Amino acid sequence: MSILMCPKCSMPLKLNEKTYRCVNNHCYDISKKGYVNLLMSQKSSKKRHGDDKAMIYARKSFLSKGYYDMLCDNVIGLAKKHFAGGAYLDLGCGECYYTERIKNAVSPSCTVALDISKDALNIAQSDAVKIVASVSKIPVFSDSCNLVTNIFAPIKESEVKRVLTKNGLLVRAVPLERHLFSLKSAVYEKPYENAHDETALEGFELVDSTELKTKITIDNNEDILKLFMMTPYYYKTSSADFQRLNSLDTLETEIEVNFLAYKPLK
Ligand SMILES: [Zn+2]
Repeated sequence: MSILMCPKCSMPLKLNEKTYRCVNNHCYDISKKGYVNLLMSQKSSKKRHGDDKAMIYARKSFLSKGYYDMLCDNVIGLAKKHFAGGAYLDLGCGECYYTERIKNAVSPSCTVALDISKDALNIAQSDAVKIVASVSKIPVFSDSCNLVTNIFAPIKESEVKRVLTKNGLLVRAVPLERHLFSLKSAVYEKPYENAHDETALEGFELVDSTELKTKITIDNNEDILKLFMMTPYYYKTSSADFQRLNSLDTLETEIEVNFLAYKPLK
């Protein structure tokens, strides 16, 4: 059973061959790459939707080498502890690196992977239902998801609360203050710690929380560059600062992440 909702009229979308269709005959074809575009507002083609291609390819390559597997294990740990089965939605799924692993670990009845970036979904390797959409207008039914994950991605609390069932679970991963600090120190003269993210979410009760504080060593320049490119700092960094990484062949850096499990207050 599909939990997808027509973004034009909010009726159920049914899959027939390669097309999703509602009773009002609004149609959405599955692309050659396997995703369906349910994003309604594409007012400006110039506006960047999500992450750019260089960042996406860097992230896919870096993650495929296993450096972040322990992050995924922490999300899976919380999900396994609190998730009793049902539909799973990954909000801001990117290339589905986490989606695919979490899906395989918790065996949901169906998996929907949502991202605003077509480029990311183009190279996503997952048999999840992949949709292009905004986290601020999720085209799935209210009270339809039993598990939502949100890993280093934007969130709109009211939308997550709407789509979760009463006993549903939200698992988030957010960076702590010193996450990747040594990487930033290699680039900036005066690196700043990350802002402390507020863990309280309006409309939710925090039911569990774990912290991962460790270090990883990267022993080649290519992967150091890729790690930097997958961070939000990449967009804000001058090429002169970025060049500082070119001479770096080994880097030990902090991995400090907070994993949070919430239940909606319904
Ligand atoms: Zn419709």
